[in-house]
Amino acid sequence: MIKVAFFDAKDYDIASFQAADTNKEFEYRFFETRLDENTVKLAEGADAVCVFVNDDINESVIDALVSYGIRLLALRCAGYNNVDIEYAYQKLHVVRVPAYSPYAVAEHAMALLLTSIRRIHKSYIRTRDFNFSLSGLTGFDLHGKTVGVIGTGKIGKVFIDICRGFGMKVLAYDKYPAKDSDIRYVSLEEIWKEADILSFHCPLTPETRHIVNADTISRMKTGVVLINTSRGALIDTEALLNGIRERKIGAACLDVYEEESDIFFQDRSGHILDDEILARLISMPNVIVTSHQAFLTKEALANISDTTLSNIRDILNTGKCVNELCYRCPGFSTCSRDHTEKCF
Ligand code: NAD
Repeated sequence: MIKVAFFDAKDYDIASFQAADTNKEFEYRFFETRLDENTVKLAEGADAVCVFVNDDINESVIDALVSYGIRLLALRCAGYNNVDIEYAYQKLHVVRVPAYSPYAVAEHAMALLLTSIRRIHKSYIRTRDFNFSLSGLTGFDLHGKTVGVIGTGKIGKVFIDICRGFGMKVLAYDKYPAKDSDIRYVSLEEIWKEADILSFHCPLTPETRHIVNADTISRMKTGVVLINTSRGALIDTEALLNGIRERKIGAACLDVYEEESDIFFQDRSGHILDDEILARLISMPNVIVTSHQAFLTKEALANISDTTLSNIRDILNTGKCVNELCYRCPGFSTCSRDHTEKCF
């Protein structure tokens, strides 16, 4: 049996990982707590550690895992900004699930946009209270509007297709534009200037951190709608809040938040929310927050568990895995990647 220490386990993770283990090869130890330097001891005795977006795999966690003889960290997500990949290099194999359902995230981005601009969140509450007034619910057509898409990878491309189905004009920016595509790439400057709606589908990197800030907001159209289903820190939240207060930003649809790690994925309804910025944002009538929910479909969960288990098997049985992340190549002979493409 392959022993897996499974951190930040939720009921839906437990159900899908148990269902995916059809040959009963895995012995899971599910922990509700997140992995960090205070909880890493729980991993002792495991063959692999499985983590999600808000576990903190820093230098001391990596050192502790290595001291327990653990050489495999399996991320059950695509993003890996919470792992010190450089420090893990040649200490731990780090594998991830690069794609599980780009449709889940892109469709959620569109669901947020439609909910926001057609005020569905308001009318749902009104009609439950038998209030059938339409005052204050005027929306706008998506047809003919310009959407700016930042990041045209797997999710960005699906989102572009969805927007085209609505008759929207699509402008895109990507540091590595897709070759031979019919996507119209423009500069970031042009995107800020032209877009009625902006949707972010790029990873969080030092370059993209706070890509939405006071300066870039000032270059955007008045009334612009922002959608972030990528990573919270793409947006400087205080600048966003100011932009909303100043009526520069028309609406914000947020599935991620830069300080989400201690708040999201938990029931905090009986507690006072200490995060003033998030509380203020949620109180705004033109802000919708979902709790990092965009990935959460049956199809995505099944793909996440299947790919994670196969990643673990690949590394433990062969030492190689196509979904392994590395910081820099030690030599092409030991890597199973196609070296014509960038690692990141
Ligand atoms: P992907 O790797 O397929 O695409 C990312 C794209 O961003 C690539 O085309 C890349 O070239 C581009 N990019 C990289 N650096 C850039 C920069 N500086 N500026 C502009 N573009 C840049 O990834 P994906 O599967 O499409 O996922 C996109 C992001 O969505 C992930 O990084 C992750 O943070 C987020 N995500 C969120 C959820 C959720 O539940 N909310 C789920 C999955 C993924």
